[in-house]
Amino acid sequence: MEEINRNLEEIVKERTKDLLKAMEKAQESDRLKTAFLANMSHEIRTPMNGILGFTQLLKFSEIDSKQQHEYLEIIEKSGARMLNIINDIVDISKIEAGLIVARTAPTNINEQLRHVFSFFRPQALERNLDFSYSTTLSDIDAWVETDSEKFFAILSNLVKNALKFSDKGSIEFGYIRKGDVLEFHVKDTGIGIPAERQQAIFERFIQADIEDRRAAQGAGLGLSIAKAYAELLGGNIWLKSEEGSGSVFYFTLPYKPLSYANSSENKPQNTTAIVKVKDKKNLKKFKVLIAEDDEVSEKLLKIILAKCTDILLTAGNGSQVLETINHHPDIDLIFMDIQMPEINGLEATRQIRKINRDIIIVAQTAFGMLEDREKAKAAGCNDYISKPLKKEEVQAILTKYFSKDCE
Ligand code: MN
Repeated sequence: MEEINRNLEEIVKERTKDLLKAMEKAQESDRLKTAFLANMSHEIRTPMNGILGFTQLLKFSEIDSKQQHEYLEIIEKSGARMLNIINDIVDISKIEAGLIVARTAPTNINEQLRHVFSFFRPQALERNLDFSYSTTLSDIDAWVETDSEKFFAILSNLVKNALKFSDKGSIEFGYIRKGDVLEFHVKDTGIGIPAERQQAIFERFIQADIEDRRAAQGAGLGLSIAKAYAELLGGNIWLKSEEGSGSVFYFTLPYKPLSYANSSENKPQNTTAIVKVKDKKNLKKFKVLIAEDDEVSEKLLKIILAKCTDILLTAGNGSQVLETINHHPDIDLIFMDIQMPEINGLEATRQIRKINRDIIIVAQTAFGMLEDREKAKAAGCNDYISKPLKKEEVQAILTKYFSKDCE
């Protein structure tokens, strides 16, 4: 009897210990999530503070044009920062929900590196940093089957991070081939990462928990996104760093070269559709339809397009779009918002394509949403631009399809 009692006591003790451990773990995770939310709230409120605060100053105070310009720049920067955070939150939520899939296609690694380089070069120049990259495979050998958007996201997150934490010195990125693996690196001469933080740095929620954050800004999600993507693409991510003397971030990708070297006809073409440039001297009036249910977005496009269109029509929902096309079958170009009441942009596009294949239809999609773009193309859109709209992107569309200049 005593024997049994003693055994029971042991079991109860063991179980209690397990339970306590589980509870502590749950509390720790709760604490991190609360810290994460507090940080997120701060990261969203700060740029909003800049946007609304300086808008109010523009509205109410008497200021000269120099100040006006300065305030507008602050608003623009705050908006861009806000957008970054929103994109990161959307990405992390998708990762957490298990909604991320790799969409692989032939991708040229060298081209991706060049793209990242030209994307970040202005920032590096502005900050007086020595910025460079290197490629070790020839352009022909640099074709691999991977998800180019995710690859770009990994590399640009690492470069963005390097820029954020380097005040002087250099940033260099590139890759080497190690058998059937490509090993990428991003090297900076920034503040470095203390040894005890190196493990935790890829964990989401973690940055939120540091007391003396040295990050100028940011939700600290970039590296967790990079890690999730690297693993999704069949690779790894890690770092080497010494506090005070910079960091090197590494990640790998499987290397299975696509054998385009021998057959030039199989070489992937640029993914963009065949460009149809209309005759510049065409005397016909240039007719553009803006399909958009949001007034502010419509106004923005209207102002951007004012100088380069002869006739500018608008429609606030899909049914109006179809009606307008009936009355004006000679419309050249439609900027089609996807989310609209009654008939959405995709459905409207499908219906237009049943009767008209000539109109250039450009979808306006939410930034970063790859699915949106694919759906838009599948519905029959020629191209897409992402919201928030940039004047240069709209201009690029007009140049590409119509050789029109909006300046
Ligand atoms: Mn809409």
